[in-house]
Formats: sequence, structure tokens, C-alpha cells
Amino acid sequence: MVNQKFYQLGTAPSVIRELFAYGLEQAKTVGPENVFDYSLGNPSIPAPAKVNQSIHDILNDTDSIKVHGYSMACGFDSAREAIAANLNRRFGTDLKAGNLFLTCGAAPGLIAVIKALLAEEDSEIMVVAPFFPEYRPFTESNGGHLVVVPADTDAFQIDLDQVERRLTPRTQAIIINSPNNPSGVVYTRRTLEGLARLLERKSAEYGHPIYIIADEPYRELVYGGVEVPFIPTVYRNTIVCYSYSKSLSLPGERIGYICVPDSVEDHQAVYSAIAGAARSCGHVCPPTLIQLTIARCADETPDLAAYDENRQLLYRELTAMGYQCAKPDGAFYLFVKAPGGDDEAFCEKAKREHNLLVVPGTGFECPGFVRLSYCVSNDMIRRSLPAFRALIQAYEK
Ligand code: PLP
Repeated sequence: MVNQKFYQLGTAPSVIRELFAYGLEQAKTVGPENVFDYSLGNPSIPAPAKVNQSIHDILNDTDSIKVHGYSMACGFDSAREAIAANLNRRFGTDLKAGNLFLTCGAAPGLIAVIKALLAEEDSEIMVVAPFFPEYRPFTESNGGHLVVVPADTDAFQIDLDQVERRLTPRTQAIIINSPNNPSGVVYTRRTLEGLARLLERKSAEYGHPIYIIADEPYRELVYGGVEVPFIPTVYRNTIVCYSYSKSLSLPGERIGYICVPDSVEDHQAVYSAIAGAARSCGHVCPPTLIQLTIARCADETPDLAAYDENRQLLYRELTAMGYQCAKPDGAFYLFVKAPGGDDEAFCEKAKREHNLLVVPGTGFECPGFVRLSYCVSNDMIRRSLPAFRALIQAYEK
């Protein structure tokens, strides 16, 4: 006998992984140059040179016992101080090392925060469609109830009326992700201020805070000077889950942080509950070598030129062909309206007829759209354009 909930989670198919595996298999028969894989959100630009140099330097200049030893569960002060200084300089905040808890990326950070906030058996966590599918197991496997706000399929901002209709005294938090996976949209300051006003009003009505969990692995991936507001400066009860997976192209190194600013109500209790929740999941400390690297590289920024070139090329070409697409200001995704309206049928046709691998929006609880990850080579995009053209023409007949 095993736990049925986890058995089902462990055996449930992953559409994205299946597409990726299909692409590898097809490449053996039709050649890799004829497979157009837009399925994975795996960074395709290298980590900044300073990251590799720092790893090299740390191995040479730091005591091996320290480099490979345990750190405190919340991480080294040096890394937390460097991160706090970076955030304070950019966002005018007054964060200290004590506001930060280093994690093995955003995913375990989210789990720790969700667990910590699920105070009662019937506690609810709200999410806004389209959303990262893992929010559902992260919430439900910890006994929480996930409440979904339907997508605003015009602008992919947050429909505040729909949020208000779903808030209850059991709502503990709302997860928001901007720049967004899968839409690529950045929530505007106006949207965030409106959400903040609503949550303040409802928190007062219910007599307890409704927290924002800001899931921010794409914060630094933004184009054309578009503003990505730092949400704790808009709404005081915001807990940030950050990751260097995408911003420094380090997904395999597993490093990120949770930020609980002093402005968060009961911030000491919240921080302690997060530490306890992480502990209950087996968190010991994030990789020490990478913590030391972040202490030296917290100010590094990604060179986004390649993503931006891909974004502009794909957006320009697809919209010229007649595809409709959400405004892609951030992350490395385009969210395109599926010609014919059925996202799964469109993805299947693209796969079978053109070896074009795109992900149905249904998996992000937003049917009718498909996600394209443009963290791919520019050359692959150019080679794939005839396939996109043939597909839309087939629907126009
Ligand atoms: N949140 C979102 C919206 C993501 O897209 C991802 C990864 O793709 C994560 C969290 C998890 O990232 P990490 O590698 O930091 O665990």
C-alpha cells in the first residue's frame, strides 16, 4: 500500500515532458532540424560569466569545509545581505538578512509558504488563471483548497470582480505570478494597486490578513523598459518567492529565496512558520557553493538580447500570419489563441503534421490558448515559421 494521492501525482502524465520526449524520438527519424520544440521553459542563454568565475574562485579561495558544509537553514548571512542590499537599492526598501530565507529555488519556497499559511483545515489559496500547474499539487497535497480566478482573456491582467466574488473568510493568500508563465504578461501597477485595495478592504472585513504570495522567478526577464513593480511596495502583506533559475539561468543549481518584509503582519510568526514548513519537507540548506556564489553575484543581470530578439521575431511573424497573442512583455513565453478554438486539437495537429511542439493552455487552466517557450535558438524559430503558416492556413480553409 502506498499513499494514493502521491501515487496519482507520481504517475500522472506531464504534457510538457511527454512533448519533449516525443520531440527527441522524432528527431531520430526526421532529423533534429525538422523538430520545432517550444515546450520547455529551460533557459537557453548562458549564466553570466561572473557566476562561473565566482564558482571557480570560491573553489580556489575558500575553505573546502565551508564550501561543502552545511549552512544555517535560512542560508549564509553573506548571501542574504547581498540580496537585501540589491533589493533595497533597486526598490527603496529597508530589507535585512533576517527578512530572507534561502531556498532550493521557487518551487520549494512556494511549498513552504503555502504550508505555513494553511492555518485551518478548510483554508483556501487563490490563484489567477492562467497559472503554473504546480500550484495545484503544492496546495492540495498540503490539505489546502485551491480557488481559481478565471483568466481575463483580453489583456491577461487580473479580473478584480472575479477575485472579489471568490474571496471568503477562509482565503489565506492569493498567488500571483508576474511576469507570468504562461502568458508572458506583466501585471501593471494599476492592476496591482487595485488588487491591494481589494485585499486591504477584505482583510479588514474578515479580521485577518489575506497575503499575496508573489511568485517571481521571471522578475528580471522583462523587455522594452516595462515596469515590474516590487509587490511588497504596493501591498504590505506580500511574501515573495524568488528564484535564480531563470534570471541567472541556473535552474539545475536550485537556489532562490523567500522574502518576508517587516511590513507583513505577524512577520516573525510567518517567518518562523515558513522555516518550520521547510523543515518538515526536509529542507536543510540550499547548496552551499551556490549560496556563496550568490553572495558574489546578487547584482548580476541576464543578457536578455537573445530572448528579446526571439520574442520580437515570433510575435511579429505570428501576428502577421493572423495569430492572436497576449502582449508578451516578460518571461520567455508567448500565449497564442488557438486557431479553431480547441487548444488540445491544435497542439495535436501541430505535433502530428509538423513536428511543432507547443503546450495546450488547458494545463494552465486556460483552454483555447497555447504556450510557446521562446527560450530556443533563433534559427529554430526561423525554420518553424512555414509550419505555423501552414497550420493557420489549414484553419482558414
Ligand atoms: N513558478 C513559476 C511560475 C515557474 O514557471 C517555475 C518554473 O518554471 C517555478 C515557479 C519553479 O521554479 P524553480 O526552478 O525556481 O523551482
